[in-house]
Amino acid sequence: MKIETKCLHSGYTPKNTEPRVVPIVQSTTYVYDSTEEVASVFDEPTKSLIYSRFANPTVMAVENKIAELEGGVGAMCTSSGQAATLLSILNICRAGDSFISTGEVYGGTVNLFSFTLKKMGIECIFVDRNSSDEEIMKAFKPNTKAVFGETIANPALSVLDIERFAKIAHANNVPLIVDNTFATPILCRPIEFGADIVIHSTSKYMDGHAVQVGGVIVDSGNFDWTNGKFPELVEPDESYHGISYVETYGKAAYIIKARMQLMRDFGVYPAAHSAFLLNLGLETMAIRMEKYCENAMKVANYLKGHEKIESIKYPGLESDEDYPLTKKYLKGASGVISLVIKGGREKAMEFMNSLQLASNEVHVADIRTCVLHPASETHRQLTDEQLVAAGINGGMVRFSVGLENVDDIISDIEQALNKI
Ligand SMILES: *Cc1c(COP(=O)(O)O)cnc(C)c1O
Repeated sequence: MKIETKCLHSGYTPKNTEPRVVPIVQSTTYVYDSTEEVASVFDEPTKSLIYSRFANPTVMAVENKIAELEGGVGAMCTSSGQAATLLSILNICRAGDSFISTGEVYGGTVNLFSFTLKKMGIECIFVDRNSSDEEIMKAFKPNTKAVFGETIANPALSVLDIERFAKIAHANNVPLIVDNTFATPILCRPIEFGADIVIHSTSKYMDGHAVQVGGVIVDSGNFDWTNGKFPELVEPDESYHGISYVETYGKAAYIIKARMQLMRDFGVYPAAHSAFLLNLGLETMAIRMEKYCENAMKVANYLKGHEKIESIKYPGLESDEDYPLTKKYLKGASGVISLVIKGGREKAMEFMNSLQLASNEVHVADIRTCVLHPASETHRQLTDEQLVAAGINGGMVRFSVGLENVDDIISDIEQALNKI
């Protein structure tokens, strides 16, 4: 199946007389004929359904669909994108370990990596994505367990050189984890370029309609966990009668360990109803992504060189510094544009307040056009230094182009720019 078809049909194939649409299985638990059978499921929790903190049929249909869309061996949904990021790291890092991340990542990710994981004894070493291979290699320590980056960074909109970062990670025997939220598998499939683990905030384009907060982790199945650096995937797990994930689950070791240990203990599994809504978004994702890219390109071309705009960042523009990476990795640059209004913070906020169609909201990648001021909102907790590292300027507006008629979006921008 081609990817557009997978969006509609993967993950759920109804049999004779079964519901056409993925049913919402609104049940915390599942019935067994005997205690012996329940006991055997505890020995091997992935064999069958036990309890909806680990797995649920509605959520599993979505997990299987996303795994197929990304080309992975398995996926696990989480109750938010933040939970996906957290578990993707905790699955391979413990107190005393470190990992490397590019500086240009989502504000919530910066907080998680710089503060919360630090309190848990896990150190994040931030590197500049433009540093040379040699400089990045120098950041590795014997306890470094992963490399992390975003395909299209939120909100810096820089494009990750996935192949280069995968090579560097693999030269150091660690996996590359890519947050593919803005690109979605429609615009980029990071596994094809060497990423080992792919994560998403499904709250954005995957859902698309701003109706559910969620996340997902996808395992490529390609990483060799037996290289000596990841004993927790190889050696017996005391909390599961001494099973070895690699031995028992082979290529799916990472994602099954995440479910059996971390989902069991943290319990950040989405509700069946959220998964149902997410699935509706996934069904139209291919066609929506095409239109977001088309609309955003027109808006970017309108803004480029406008007298009231200091600069614009849209990696789909040929003049953009990331354009060569866009051409290599992406089928389109998504609907998100970052612009810097002349006059800094004050003028940016004035512009945003003057918009009529585009709404001010803490969201991005919605079906409706929306705007956000990163410096005073999502990235408010960051120091000036961290703001610069994340590629954020006080006059910056994150403009998320929706699916309205593009002429209406441009007229709205025009009238707002005329007011400042
Ligand atoms: C929004 C976002 C997250 C966090 O996801 P939530 O669903 O809001 O928890 C992580 N990464 C990126 C790139 C995001 O845009």
